[in-house]
Amino acid sequence: MSLSERKRSYERAVVSRLKNLGHGELELLGNLSFGSASSSHLSYPFYRLILGNPYEKGKRNVLISAGAHGNEPAGVYAALQFAERHAERYLDAFNFFVYPCLNPSGFEFDEIKNRDAININRDFKSSPRSAEAQFVAQSLEQSGAEYAFTVDMHEDNLNQPVKGFTRRSNIRTFYLYETCADGGRRLGEKIVNEIKKHTPVCRRRKIYTASSKNGVIRYRSGKSRGNKGTLEGYLALKYTRLALTIETPTCWQIRKRVSTHLRAFMAALDIAKERQW
Ligand SMILES: [Zn+2]
Repeated sequence: MSLSERKRSYERAVVSRLKNLGHGELELLGNLSFGSASSSHLSYPFYRLILGNPYEKGKRNVLISAGAHGNEPAGVYAALQFAERHAERYLDAFNFFVYPCLNPSGFEFDEIKNRDAININRDFKSSPRSAEAQFVAQSLEQSGAEYAFTVDMHEDNLNQPVKGFTRRSNIRTFYLYETCADGGRRLGEKIVNEIKKHTPVCRRRKIYTASSKNGVIRYRSGKSRGNKGTLEGYLALKYTRLALTIETPTCWQIRKRVSTHLRAFMAALDIAKERQW
């Protein structure tokens, strides 16, 4: 694929915004490199942003990630906007570990997979093939942090049918996945109640192959999602007792998708702030 097929610039849309933040600690986790000498070579710096002080006692850690699927860009913009405009007012209660763009090459070329045709959100297994998943796994291990909850931002891209389904089956409303064993800790239903006031939420009993209720697909353990290699499953197995994945449909205007992600995430924070865990 030639460079002319780039749909967005990772440098402009993500890197420059991260560098202009003026607060937090921006960590370069590594460099991604694609192509060989014979084809055009691509390289991308891969970042994590830490907001707040993870070593301060009494504050809880929260992890946000986005853009694992490159053709689902709204979460990337939402994570950046959160860091720029909203994080500060939550810093008395939380520290944030932000992985703003998990698949920079997919983001640029508007493709679900990376340039090596690896689906990052199926690569979180005991030994990931992609450098993207390796960088995330290493950084999680090095920090050794536990997270009060984690949110991975995705979209239902209407041009990308889900395996085993036709494009017509793609969901055109908000919904989320929630992996949590402890009923008292769950946030999914409360997030949906907040989102419902502004935008339609999926009412189907089944979303693809999963049972759902009021826009929430619920798992009690990270096992099944973890076996698939999803980041949500991986986090639930190793680093958190509450892992969420939130979804907006790409048939909505980008502004609405970004604001819906932000609203869902901040609803989760507002509820978690009042709770003791
Ligand atoms: Zn996705």
